[in-house]
Amino acid sequence: MKLLRFVWAYLPPHRPQYVASVLLAGLEGLLAAAPPLAVGLGLMQLAEGQAGIAGILPYAAACFLAVVLRIFVVQRAWKLGYRAGNHASERIRSRIVDHMRRVPLGTLSGRWTPARLATLITEDGRWINETSSFYLVRFLNGLVATAVLLGAAAWLEPVAALAILAALGGGVAAMIAVKPVLSRFIRLRNDMIAEATLRVGEYADGIAVFRAFGRSGAAQKDFRAAVDALHDKTLAMAPRLIPLQQAGAALISLAAPLAILLVAGLQLAGLRQADPVAVIPALFLTLAAAATFSAGVLKTLLPMELGVRAEQNISAFLGTAPLAGKRSDFSTDLDVEFDKVSFRYAPGKPEAVSDVSFEARKGTVTAIAGPSGAGKSTLVSLLLRFHDLSAGQIRLGDVDVIEADPAAVQARISLVSQDVHLFRDTLRANLLLGDPEASGARLMEAVRAARLDDLVAALPQGLDTMLGDTGRTLSGGERQRVAIARALLKDAPVIVLDEATSAMDPLSESAIQKAVAALEDGRTVIVIAHRLRTVADADEIIVFDRGRVRARGRHADLLASDGLYARLWSAQEQAAGWRLR
Ligand code: ADP
Repeated sequence: MKLLRFVWAYLPPHRPQYVASVLLAGLEGLLAAAPPLAVGLGLMQLAEGQAGIAGILPYAAACFLAVVLRIFVVQRAWKLGYRAGNHASERIRSRIVDHMRRVPLGTLSGRWTPARLATLITEDGRWINETSSFYLVRFLNGLVATAVLLGAAAWLEPVAALAILAALGGGVAAMIAVKPVLSRFIRLRNDMIAEATLRVGEYADGIAVFRAFGRSGAAQKDFRAAVDALHDKTLAMAPRLIPLQQAGAALISLAAPLAILLVAGLQLAGLRQADPVAVIPALFLTLAAAATFSAGVLKTLLPMELGVRAEQNISAFLGTAPLAGKRSDFSTDLDVEFDKVSFRYAPGKPEAVSDVSFEARKGTVTAIAGPSGAGKSTLVSLLLRFHDLSAGQIRLGDVDVIEADPAAVQARISLVSQDVHLFRDTLRANLLLGDPEASGARLMEAVRAARLDDLVAALPQGLDTMLGDTGRTLSGGERQRVAIARALLKDAPVIVLDEATSAMDPLSESAIQKAVAALEDGRTVIVIAHRLRTVADADEIIVFDRGRVRARGRHADLLASDGLYARLWSAQEQAAGWRLR
């Protein structure tokens, strides 16, 4: 029922089609009951001696007609139901994707791993659709047909109807008994799919490394072992699940013999005289009712459970708290202020940043320096609202980031890093991610400013060269310039520049420096400096260590004060000297 309510909420504007499909499922149930009813009536006429074999031919014709009509109705019912269900599951899928955008990243690295979310969107989305359309139609018509046959049997011989009810009761009891095992089976199955998705992803991501170290065979074995372990667990459950399901079907098939037993027993005990003319068709209808229930209702139990479980999974994810905040009334001057900001990744873990205060003004470059693990990247993810703060405030202009719509915050900040994701598409499409509406002239301007023009000229198909896994790969420096061009197109007032961690060739480095200069103009720029050389000109350098601000100032002053910054500087200079030799 909850599944249906859930699907119903996502149906508009396809509710009328859905209702029509449910009504047609009922009609199909009537048509499914028609052949056994016609045969039952024919049998009665034969038993009464009112008609010979030829006399019951019209009943056979009625059967044919019902079957043909049923084919037509079932096709319409499925088509309407499937289309509406498909629409609902597509809307549910986009709601999941939308929710992924809104929850803190912490949620996505906990229970809701990318593999689990992929399962939610593919598997669970599919079961929502199939259960609410295809299987529901089958279930409903099975129920209606069984009810009609039961009613007819009751009219002919009430004792037969009692036998049917008893047998179906037994079947339903077996179904209830099977439910916990079934739920466990489905949970394991979902785990297996998520695990396999995760492992396939890891294996595909690491294939180059595995090959380079001659480990692809071993990695494949690890992958197989992990998936096999879960597979074995689900297989181990089959011997419990299948007999219980078979027991349900077997109990239901006892309806007809039970009817004979009851009719004969009552007669032998002298309690009730049955009329053989009615008993013959009643027994036939009993058989038909049991078979209809088995095929229509019992067989849909597993898919229905899969749908119910899918709804629970999806609702659990949609129930996770999104980042709150609605404000998007930012001023045009977007200074960034960190005010006594503290954050820990998980309760009980040490603070990754503690009591951090600094401001980055419009038109200036603020560098954040410090050793690896100091908390530099964490600060950026807090500014972008990937997580919520444990304490303090981050202000963008005069809006507290907590009160702001996360999408509005992200629209006002460009993150430029070397870790640039390139999609399997042309260079042009990859650049236009910054602003899909940008004109050709603006695109070319950004390409020039980001110092990508030489690359474009050298590529065989220029901007239309395919990038990504199957296309041209770009060097670290080229990737970073793609990110700069995207940021230029996005034209956000705040730029966060995550400097390359790896060393680059001097040519690439100077091209990036020039491209960055194009970005800095009139914007609020925060640079995460992994190498201090690149930020020696910054208006202010904030020196971090173990999550705290240790010093701040300009390069020369910080060097002169001979603290952590001076030590980092001389260590990096020595490393650079060593590299050149
Ligand atoms: P930096 O960018 O200066 O190298 P980070 O901000 O990446 O430093 O890391 C700061 C601290 O937070 C480190 O101790 C790091 O181990 C921890 N940390 C970073 N990311 C996570 C995460 N996703 N979950 C838990 N701890 C993290």
